[in-house]
Amino acid sequence: MAEAVVIGGGPAGLMAAEVLSAAGHRVTVADRMPSIGRKFLMAGKSGLNLTKAEARDSFLMQFQSPMRGIVAEFDMDAVQDWARGLGQPLFTGSTGRVFPTAMKASPLLRAWMARLSAQGVVFRTRWHWSGFDQGEARFETPDGTQSLRADAAVLAMGGASWRRLGSDGQWAKGRGDVSAFRPANCGFAVPWSPYMAPHFGTPMKATLLSAGHLCSRGEWVLGQHGVEGGGIYEVSAAVRDGAPLTVDLLPDHDVADLVKKIARRNRKKTVTVFLKKGLGLSPAKAALVNEISLFANTEDPAEWAARLKAVPLPCSGPFPLDQAISTAGGLRFDALTDDLMLKNQPGVFAAGEMLDWEAITGGYLLTGCLASGRHAGSAAVRFLG
Ligand SMILES: Cc1cc2nc3c(=O)[nH]c(=O)nc-3n(C[C@H](O)[C@H](O)[C@H](O)COP(=O)(O)OP(=O)(O)OC[C@H]3O[C@@H](n4cnc5c(N)ncnc54)[C@H](O)[C@@H]3O)c2cc1C
Repeated sequence: MAEAVVIGGGPAGLMAAEVLSAAGHRVTVADRMPSIGRKFLMAGKSGLNLTKAEARDSFLMQFQSPMRGIVAEFDMDAVQDWARGLGQPLFTGSTGRVFPTAMKASPLLRAWMARLSAQGVVFRTRWHWSGFDQGEARFETPDGTQSLRADAAVLAMGGASWRRLGSDGQWAKGRGDVSAFRPANCGFAVPWSPYMAPHFGTPMKATLLSAGHLCSRGEWVLGQHGVEGGGIYEVSAAVRDGAPLTVDLLPDHDVADLVKKIARRNRKKTVTVFLKKGLGLSPAKAALVNEISLFANTEDPAEWAARLKAVPLPCSGPFPLDQAISTAGGLRFDALTDDLMLKNQPGVFAAGEMLDWEAITGGYLLTGCLASGRHAGSAAVRFLG
């Protein structure tokens, strides 16, 4: 029986441990935190969006190669079957997002750890991996340095956001095979004037956000420091990479119709009254129009309509990396074999958010982590022969 070490007890590492232990290997999962799966538990705080029930092709399109092929082996249906297999009933929301009926992650994590323990997996917490030494994995622990024989190892130490939950990105320090971490699924700073203060915290509904090739009808929030929330996250990769962010405040209105309404406007009333009463904009949307002087230098109804359909949001940059839901960057795929094994370290595999890929929230992240954990775990089983 071989000894396998999984470093990082998030969803990717636990899935690798599941595959390795099911194949009969002795598996230790080591995590630097006092308990396992802290980010996974946090992900469940406002509803654990495990995956998305949608056409397989469009689901897979959310991933770039080689993650697309890896997710194809363990896709949205497989994730749902797996969660149900752990005794977790699921439901699908109106947008196709799949959640455990319990909403939070703790029942699923408990059931998962019980299954892993029954398969012989040993959990070590407060074990901080510090490297490999002659076939052994070395850890700094409260009881001093500990070493474990590792016939195979799976690294699953996560990305570099929400450091307090464990994944601090320190594993990447000094490595030449890592792309710099960048925030993903993040909000953006906007230097609002005090005029916007009454609207901070307001959810913005029925809009269409656009940036580069990305767009979103998702809800977002006008925050004190900028813009954030699901809709913003969906377009955040393009904004982070320099594309201007615009919002259509009336996505369900036909332009010609809008021009007619604007042309008929009663000029004795203020613009704000017209925006609210004539066009049905919410107070926060009307305030946004005023904040950026959207109609400066024009009275042309066609120009007003065009501007309402592409309001520029003056973002000054992404929120700090640590506040991002996930990170782009990480271990580059050119340093790995198709089996996710480090080319220069036979027997050492990698999975999850620590790899250089990104996806939008909405279940794609967790599915990608679970699928890559499974892929790396299965490859480690083959390696151990
Ligand atoms: C607030 C929030 C909400 C989210 N909601 C969702 C959602 O609804 N749906 C979705 O798909 N995704 C969601 N995500 C993203 C998702 O949680 C992550 O993508 C996923 O947890 C990453 O899994 P992982 O196993 O790769 O890494 P992680 O879950 O980050 O686990 C990595 C583990 O490695 C450990 N570790 C790090 N360094 C060391 C070391 N040197 N030695 C030992 N252990 C180490 C860490 O302590 C950590 O436990 C959310 C994220 C956040 C922050």
